[in-house]
Amino acid sequence: MSKTGNSTFVIRDGHVWNGQGTEQVDVRVEEGCVTQVGRSLAAHPGEEDLDASGCLVLPGLVDIHVHLRVPGGEDAEDIATGSAAAAAGGFCDLVAMGNTAPPYDTAAVVRSVRAEAGAVGLVRVHPAGCVTRGRNGKDLAELHELHRAGCRVFTDDGDPVSDAAIMRRALEYVKGFDGVVADHCEDRSLTAGAQMHEGRVSGRLGLQGWPAAAEEIVVARDILLAEHCGARVHLQHISTAGSVEMVRQAKARGVYVTAEVTPHHLTLTDEVVETFDPVYKVNPPIRSAEHVQAVREGLADGTIDAVATDHAPHTAERKEEWTTAACGMLGLETALPLVWSLVADGTLTLDRMVHAMCASPSRIASLPVRDSVVPGVPADMCVFDTDTAWTVDVHKLRSKASNSPYGGMQLHGRVRHTLLAGRPTVLDGETVPPGDASMGNRPW
Ligand SMILES: [Zn+2]
Ligand SMILES: [Zn+2]
Repeated sequence: MSKTGNSTFVIRDGHVWNGQGTEQVDVRVEEGCVTQVGRSLAAHPGEEDLDASGCLVLPGLVDIHVHLRVPGGEDAEDIATGSAAAAAGGFCDLVAMGNTAPPYDTAAVVRSVRAEAGAVGLVRVHPAGCVTRGRNGKDLAELHELHRAGCRVFTDDGDPVSDAAIMRRALEYVKGFDGVVADHCEDRSLTAGAQMHEGRVSGRLGLQGWPAAAEEIVVARDILLAEHCGARVHLQHISTAGSVEMVRQAKARGVYVTAEVTPHHLTLTDEVVETFDPVYKVNPPIRSAEHVQAVREGLADGTIDAVATDHAPHTAERKEEWTTAACGMLGLETALPLVWSLVADGTLTLDRMVHAMCASPSRIASLPVRDSVVPGVPADMCVFDTDTAWTVDVHKLRSKASNSPYGGMQLHGRVRHTLLAGRPTVLDGETVPPGDASMGNRPW
């Protein structure tokens, strides 16, 4: 029997996340929902089994920071390849960044990206609206129109919102409809010409540095403005000890601030730049070990809410040589094993991992909150084989681009199955093209 056509099946023998911990049970999925969880569920006629032995059965992952490059950057990624990469990584929802050509500053562009993703049907794509028109940093975009088109997250990512008055007005606007402004925190006057993290290694290599303070100045400003406006701000890809400490203090006094960290800022240190391999060039830059330690601690204690990949595909031509290379690296297909490595070594609890990759990002993006696999929830699921080790071959990734810094590295843990609204998008590690494309286009 085909494993792709059925809408009823049982996921067998996995360690199923129930919101507090895991139990080794079976999960019955019918018509897009989890209907039963229990030991040794009796088989029903016509039902298929999906093997989850040795696997964690988690809610589907949510990535609130992805560059799909559509429209305008299809030589690096397109909706089909980006969606396949997301499904292979265990993701069911992603928030797409709008530094595209044209950018996501009109309802028409937002609707067309969502419709195209719905037709591909491998992951739900939620475009983030631009904060400023044409991402010019000066004039507010039509935030209400973008909100009506479904945007809940607003960002000029790729660029910071440099003008504090614009940031303030954006926060005041989104407060009216419980949106959130997500900021790429970088004071550009301090990073002009920067090639890497400013510190001991940049000094040794003679490369111009990107100081931690350039991020922290904007983190401080955004926290103060969110506090002043009583609005929600989300800090993207925070990477420094000072940023973590400011978020910690702001949360303690009740400011509505959330923060994300990328897998690469959790797992790499700036010594990688000694190779001059452009695959390591990213913005904000890979930091030194003390900052890496601080973001790990921030994620572990809940100061940092979410892991987000900042998946940033680039063509080989844009990654040829260190000084001229574009910034950014792939992330979707390696995120979960990298974060799992922090659970395996005791840095994070499993509870924190699930919160950081499912519940918190869904809350930040105003999506239906996904925090457990229990009867009644939509069958968005990631079945993650924690026993399998695999070596990353950048040419075998689903992404159209190959700029992963983990090429050749052995990772532990791999997504075995992904389910989107009860339909497998990945089975035994293989992408399943949708028979019914409409299933990936469920409304908000
Ligand atoms: Zn950014
Ligand atoms: Zn980004």
